[in-house]
Amino acid sequence: MSPTAAPAGPLAYFDHAATVPLRPEVALAMAPFAADRFGNASGSHRLARDARAALEDAREEIASLLGARPAEVVFTGGGTESDNLAVFGVLAACERQRPAIVCSAIEHAAVLAPARAAAGGAGRVRGLDRAELRVAAVDRTGVIDLGALEECLGDDVALVSVMLANNEVGTVQPLAEAAAVVRRRAPGAALHTDAVQAAPFLDVARAAAAADLVTLSAHKLGGPKGTGVLVVREGTPLRPLVFGGGQERERRSGTHDVAGAVGMAAALRESVAHRQEEGARVAALRDRLADGLLSSIPGTVESAPRELVLPGHAHLRFAGVEQEELLVLLDEAGVCASAGSACASGAIEPSHVLLAMGVGGRDARSAVRFTLGATSSELDVQLALTATRAAVERLRH
Ligand code: PLP
Repeated sequence: MSPTAAPAGPLAYFDHAATVPLRPEVALAMAPFAADRFGNASGSHRLARDARAALEDAREEIASLLGARPAEVVFTGGGTESDNLAVFGVLAACERQRPAIVCSAIEHAAVLAPARAAAGGAGRVRGLDRAELRVAAVDRTGVIDLGALEECLGDDVALVSVMLANNEVGTVQPLAEAAAVVRRRAPGAALHTDAVQAAPFLDVARAAAAADLVTLSAHKLGGPKGTGVLVVREGTPLRPLVFGGGQERERRSGTHDVAGAVGMAAALRESVAHRQEEGARVAALRDRLADGLLSSIPGTVESAPRELVLPGHAHLRFAGVEQEELLVLLDEAGVCASAGSACASGAIEPSHVLLAMGVGGRDARSAVRFTLGATSSELDVQLALTATRAAVERLRH
């Protein structure tokens, strides 16, 4: 086996929150744009017009599936870029000397890191003076505390960011209620929601209707990696992060990735078309896995109440077990799971989400995230149950 090849043997993939394979319909839809329909959508000849027509069709479809207008859809290079554009773009457009940004404590690093950077003065290069960052606490179930959010708000707040569902523990956030608090206590603030994890399972058009800015990433939906959108509702002030040819109505310059846009539209279309039955099937498999592990491995707890989390998430803690060791044994057995808080190097960092939920120390380091999706099967669940029981037993003795 070459060092880069995937290992042989049965594989059970439980990392759908990290990424999922390309849906076959997506690969088919994208193929012509990687071949003879290669035009630059900014040009004027027939190949360019063909690319532009495909790009605008993709934009229209995505807009209609997200309850937005086509002009409100900005194509980006993925969820991270969309989150960065929302944070820096709104802060930079704000006229205030020292605008405040408010985030929930469990936001993804793609929101927290730019928010911290802006608060640390890095925003200055983007035409900002130092912003002030306020972090709204979550409760023990991993849901934003609306009272804490309210305390962070005021007339100086330019942006509030509350994710639609958390990537680690899977908790769905009460965005409509949070929006009502924001409109009341910080009427001048823009509300951003990161819907990257929610999109495969929830109706984003409805669930994120109250947000001014909405982040989505194609690869979590069975689309290509490196493509995302930021929905920017009309009237929301935003300055670009990337300057150049003025594409995307001056909001994101750069030659369009037409194949990526077409792939994202196809992924969202398929995902929306199958969402209900996929959600129900995935939830049933997840329940079998979580219930099986809870009942057969003493000292196992679920990090968040099942009724509050996405259908594909099972985030469990195995008392006395080190997550890194458990993940290695699971990997050897062909089960791909994760700690949910890895950084780019693959090293597992202490989870800011668990810390915010009041779970600390060894307890937090015993957590494993199993995330299921469209390709999950009963056989995967059987493999994970057997492998996890064996691995935990081995580690405990
Ligand atoms: N936001 C959330 C909640 C995520 O889970 C992720 C990816 O894991 C991102 C943003 C980043 O998206 P991308 O991988 O497209 O940059």
